[in-house]
Amino acid sequence: MEELSQIFSNGLMPHGYCIQWKPALLWLHVVSDGLIALAYFAIPIGLHAVVRRHGELPFMRLFSLAAAFILACGTTHLLSIWTMWRPDYGVEGVVKAATAAISTVAAVAFIRAAPHILGLANIRELQRAVTVNTQELSRANEALRAEIEQRDQAEKALVERESRLHSIVDTAVNAILTIDEQGVVESMNPAAVRLFGYSESQVIGKNISMLMPPPDRDAHDGYLRRYRETGERRIIGVGREVVGRRFDGSLIPLALAVSEFDTARGRRFTGILSDLSTRKDFEKQLADSLEELDAVNRALEERNAELDDFAHTVSHDLKEPLRGIQTYCWTLVEDLGEQLGEEAQTRLSRIQTLAKRMDAMIDSVLEYSRSGRQNRKKKVDLNDTVQEALDMLSVSLRERGCAVDVPRPFPEAECDPVAVVESLKNLISNASKYNDKADKRIEIGWEEAPSRPLTLYVRDNGIGIEEAERNAVFRIFSRSQRGREFGEGTGAGLAIVKKLVERQGGRVWVESTPGKGSTFRFTLGPREP
Ligand code: ADP
Repeated sequence: MEELSQIFSNGLMPHGYCIQWKPALLWLHVVSDGLIALAYFAIPIGLHAVVRRHGELPFMRLFSLAAAFILACGTTHLLSIWTMWRPDYGVEGVVKAATAAISTVAAVAFIRAAPHILGLANIRELQRAVTVNTQELSRANEALRAEIEQRDQAEKALVERESRLHSIVDTAVNAILTIDEQGVVESMNPAAVRLFGYSESQVIGKNISMLMPPPDRDAHDGYLRRYRETGERRIIGVGREVVGRRFDGSLIPLALAVSEFDTARGRRFTGILSDLSTRKDFEKQLADSLEELDAVNRALEERNAELDDFAHTVSHDLKEPLRGIQTYCWTLVEDLGEQLGEEAQTRLSRIQTLAKRMDAMIDSVLEYSRSGRQNRKKKVDLNDTVQEALDMLSVSLRERGCAVDVPRPFPEAECDPVAVVESLKNLISNASKYNDKADKRIEIGWEEAPSRPLTLYVRDNGIGIEEAERNAVFRIFSRSQRGREFGEGTGAGLAIVKKLVERQGGRVWVESTPGKGSTFRFTLGPREP
């Protein structure tokens, strides 16, 4: 105890005496100790601020020990300044002892914590790795979010497409049904409901064969089985006409198109059906009308043949009394010629002319009724046909001084050569007859157009025909005004041509410029539709 009081007794000299109060030395010590003390105090204050900011840190106890150790060190330096003037070496010693104790505890604590501190370094690395991973994770997250967005959009597009498809199926005019591989109906659209007269609930979940009459009704499962086993397509992608059975048992003709598609639940088939009953009705009506038309045509042909026969018989029968009239006239003139007066002679001569004309007309009717009776079509070389007609007219053509031109050879054609020769003969004869030119020219040729059968023509540079008379000249005994001025004729030639041409299914027509000439054309077969 005595020793302790000696320690704190003031019988000692301040530290300044040791350095003989040399100002430079004194202030060097004082300032240095002051700065060291300040620095020591600043460190725990900084540590305190860090702890406040970040909250609990690892190794908190070690931090506190370090702070206490540093504070204690700082205090020893303050006391060094104090003892420069006041010799309180006891207090200084006690503070140093406390500092030593704290330092020792701190040193031991540091040594023990060293491995953990080193571990802390690893944790930092780990933290860095975690940071890197976190960044990668957030990048992956970003990509994931983009993908989710993309999927969302794709899903929206899919939903949109599906609803569009649904609306098409719902508003389709055709009936659309979907079945599974066993033939069980999975869906049917409103048109199918309307077509079959069943409600959706009556059909969905049932076998499609309920919409079919026998034999398909009983065979349909077999069709599906065979397709499953062989893969042989008989209707898929081909389409065919089938018969459907309505709710009320009535049958409907249908056009069926089937397609198949795969789903997660297996293969499905879609059938698109259109009602053919209207078309079938129309086809039947058309067939009936055609049949009727055929019957009318046949009847007409029979009537025409009867008329021809009648005309033939009448003409034939008329010939005899006419020949009698002509004979009596001739004998009257021969026997009583001298006794008859001039007027009677003139009248008798007029009767003879008229009888002759009537004879010619009866011949025309006979010819007309006979013409076209036989229609013997065969393949002929038209050059021969034209030549035959020209040969028959060679004398009259020479007498009339006509030049005939055939610009190009004729092809072969399927026709009745007798009718063609007869028609050409009439037309060439008219072309030479109804011609007022000094240089009479006739051209005989042929034309072929895609929409028309082979067409023959006879062109002349004659008197031509007024437009108003162009159709009439084809009627029997009809002659044009100007034509009558050109000699004899009964007006039957063109009617015969028309009959001959039409019997072969062709047609005849004329184009003409009055005063300049005409072109008669006729086709060798039926008109193209
Ligand atoms: P026909 O020659 O006996 O009078 P057609 O029937 O052959 O009888 O002719 C009818 C009429 O058509 C003729 O009278 C004539 O007026 C007119 N015709 C026919 N062919 C021609 C032609 N190439 N040029 C001008 N007129 C014609």
